[in-house]
Amino acid sequence: MIKALRGMNDLMGYEAELFAKIVRVCESVARNYGFELIETPKLEQTALFRRSVGESSDIVGKEMYEFSDKSGDSVCLRPEGTAGVVRSFIENKFDKAGGVRKFYYTGSMFRYERPQRGRLREFHQFGVECFGEGSVYEDASVILLLAEILRKLGVKTTLKLNSLGDSSCMPEYKNKLIKFLNEREDRLCEDCKRRIITNPIRVLDCKNEACQSELATAPLITDNLSGECKSEFEKLQEILLANGLNFEIDKRLVRGLDYYCKTAFEFVSSELGAQSAVGGGGRYDRLVEFLGGKSTFGVGFAIGIERLIEILKLKEAPSSRSGIYIGAMDEAIVSCAFAIGQKLRAITKTHIAYEPKNLQKHLKSADSKMAKFCLCIGEDEFKNASVWCKNLEDKSQDMVKFNEIEDFFKDRV
Ligand code: AMP
Repeated sequence: MIKALRGMNDLMGYEAELFAKIVRVCESVARNYGFELIETPKLEQTALFRRSVGESSDIVGKEMYEFSDKSGDSVCLRPEGTAGVVRSFIENKFDKAGGVRKFYYTGSMFRYERPQRGRLREFHQFGVECFGEGSVYEDASVILLLAEILRKLGVKTTLKLNSLGDSSCMPEYKNKLIKFLNEREDRLCEDCKRRIITNPIRVLDCKNEACQSELATAPLITDNLSGECKSEFEKLQEILLANGLNFEIDKRLVRGLDYYCKTAFEFVSSELGAQSAVGGGGRYDRLVEFLGGKSTFGVGFAIGIERLIEILKLKEAPSSRSGIYIGAMDEAIVSCAFAIGQKLRAITKTHIAYEPKNLQKHLKSADSKMAKFCLCIGEDEFKNASVWCKNLEDKSQDMVKFNEIEDFFKDRV
């Protein structure tokens, strides 16, 4: 038997309903914040991710679905969404045009990770990217946008916030950190030893316990911000609080890539297991330039849809009864039931039975389909141009005339 690949799931039933609901909420909130839809290919040149996500990251180093296509070009299934959006932004010369452009996207991402709860090899993200806006109000805006999505979905999370400084303070801080790490190099794990050279900031969020205790006294960027970065970080906190959003400062929250600066944030949920991050993002003012475009401000986030499904599944009961089931009791009446069912499909979800059956069998089928109403047309009903109708929730019954059927259901479904 051919099975799905490890870490790649089919989506159906209640989970598929939740998926659609999450995307609906994400998109409607993003549109209210002035973002427009962008779709970029799932397959891109490998070089795009090598350059943007960075050679030293786990994603590029270990997790990419990378292969040569038939013409021998190195291509890669996207491991994240930002790089493709930035590539498109530059390719369409929006960087040269100037002004502010805001995009949102939904789609699958691919990472060859070790599958476990909350960690898949194909998963879906919803994300937003805002280009050309340097104001800290936009950082606040994208954070509030994500908070609004989570509020609408009824997902409780904690917002963790940090500032990574910028080119005025980060290089000096990095030297300080490297000096600190070099003094303790022999007590760090192999990954951290490597990162001292390739990506020292990432050492701070190493999950290894021995490293964590060794790094307890490490200098932190938040305590080494330039005057401007510090006051912007304070302003961000002030805006969030003034707009009803609480947060925790997490001085160890980092994004290890050079083009990230200033705001870094993550929403975490205690309802998830070890993989507690629901989504995160930050400012990336140097990414457009990094990928060959004209220097452009950037800020955005991505959230994991499967992780949201996981949380909602724990909270919400599978949807209750909905829609209509309609069937005939006689072969000659099936076409009449079909025509009425077709009319009802303009109003609500309607299942039409093509086989004639007795009333008990129709009721059983309607029940198994979780329909709210079971409609049945027998010989007597047909003669009276009526449909027998049972509400399977409150058990009430009615006879409804063919020509009144749409009015009857307008307020009931
Ligand atoms: P990242 O692009 O790594 O910052 O991830 C953003 C969000 O995507 C995370 O907070 C998760 O919710 C989700 N995510 C990342 N990796 C995976 C994965 N392997 N499986 C499922 N969800 C993921």
